[in-house]
Amino acid sequence: MRKCFPILIVMWAAIVAGAFMLNMYIVHKNAEKFVRTESEAFFDLLVTIRQWNSGHGLVYVPTSGDMQPNPYLIHNRRDAVTNFGDSLTMINPAFMTRQLSELAAADGVTRFHITSLNPIRPANKADGWETKALQTFKDKDNRVFEKIKTGDSLTFRFMAPLITEQSCLACHATQGYRLGDVRGGISINTAYHRDYAMASQGKTLTIYAVVFLAGFFPLLCFRLSHKRDISAKNRELQFLGTSKDKFFSVIAHDLKTPAGNIQMLSEMLQNQFDDIDNEERKSYIDMLAESARVHHDLLNTLLDLSMLQLGSKQNVPERLNIRILANDVLQQTRLQAQQKHIGLANLSDDCFARADRNMITTVVRNIVTNAIKFTNPEGQITISTAKGNGEITVSITDTGIGIADPVKNRVFAVDYHKSTAGTANEPGTGLGLILCKEYVERNGGRIWFESEPGKGTTFFFTLPEFED
Ligand code: ADP
Repeated sequence: MRKCFPILIVMWAAIVAGAFMLNMYIVHKNAEKFVRTESEAFFDLLVTIRQWNSGHGLVYVPTSGDMQPNPYLIHNRRDAVTNFGDSLTMINPAFMTRQLSELAAADGVTRFHITSLNPIRPANKADGWETKALQTFKDKDNRVFEKIKTGDSLTFRFMAPLITEQSCLACHATQGYRLGDVRGGISINTAYHRDYAMASQGKTLTIYAVVFLAGFFPLLCFRLSHKRDISAKNRELQFLGTSKDKFFSVIAHDLKTPAGNIQMLSEMLQNQFDDIDNEERKSYIDMLAESARVHHDLLNTLLDLSMLQLGSKQNVPERLNIRILANDVLQQTRLQAQQKHIGLANLSDDCFARADRNMITTVVRNIVTNAIKFTNPEGQITISTAKGNGEITVSITDTGIGIADPVKNRVFAVDYHKSTAGTANEPGTGLGLILCKEYVERNGGRIWFESEPGKGTTFFFTLPEFED
């Protein structure tokens, strides 16, 4: 996740940026379409108004300072006076279009004017773009629309032809136009609403920024929680690392003692076999066997712990009948108990836990072996089980010597594993309970004890109850 995070963020940013650009492209295209539709409607409206004008033949308006007779209109009734003495002048479609265009120009956004390749009024002469358009016009369906960029400004230009109709011939027949001829066109310029577009772009950008953040924050939270997990794990590993180093250095030292004893005793036997009597030989062999056993136990436990640390030992939970498992362990340790005249009480009730068989067998065996080890002859060891809250609690009670107060805090400590000799001087490794704790916890349980020096000890551990 650490390496993926920047890639994910960049990918997310690229997706959002891509979507934003696509959106803006669509917005601009739509704006273009809108301007074209607007220009066409504008043109059609102007043509309708012009038809209204030419359809009446004569449309008069009062003359004023702004409204002077049209010098380009050659008509014998161009100017008139009403019965009331008001002077009127005739407005033809071209003059009317110009006047409307001047009014519209005051607004600023859309400008239009009539134009022709052969204008009566020189000011109506077509510019380069209009000339090109007029040259392509053949009939009323020809329309030209183009987006023109000059420097920073953008203009939409639209042009459509004016077709000679019957009502136009009154004035334009003298120019040689016939019905249906393209007489010129109306050119419409629409300025690009940059401010409006920028404002809408700004709003869209804000929305996309929010979308980006909506994806960014969950990713960030996920990354941070993952980081916390990793640092917690690192801390844990570090802790284990430190104590493990210490732990293994102590163990290495411990392993040397029985190994050295085995070597020393076997060499003594080898060298002095014929010089010593049977009794002495027997005592050497007993010591040798004892050292070999301690060495073996230590190695076994170490191997188990190492496999746990390396993660190569996994628990395989199964339906475990604690009664059968505990009675099997009692059976295996019965001889040991009998030698010390210690009573072992079998479990009589079935009780099912969900746990790894080998691990839990080792746990029960270690606790029972300890109980035998730390109980004086004629003592008693009892195993019992209890159910509640979805877990099984196994308790192993002895009537032994109890655990001395200074030792109580240290029996499960990884970096402290001093062993106390048993009541019959049995040696130990000081590692058994550490292994028990690991095994119980890996099976989802807890382990603890209650002990009163001189009275005895009870070890408890829990396991999840097996549910059918
Ligand atoms: P070991 O028994 O090999 O020394 P353990 O880890 O099994 O190692 O036990 C650690 C220590 O806890 C023992 O050395 C002993 O001091 C104490 N202990 C464990 N079980 C009992 C018990 N049932 N009664 C008294 N002391 C005990």
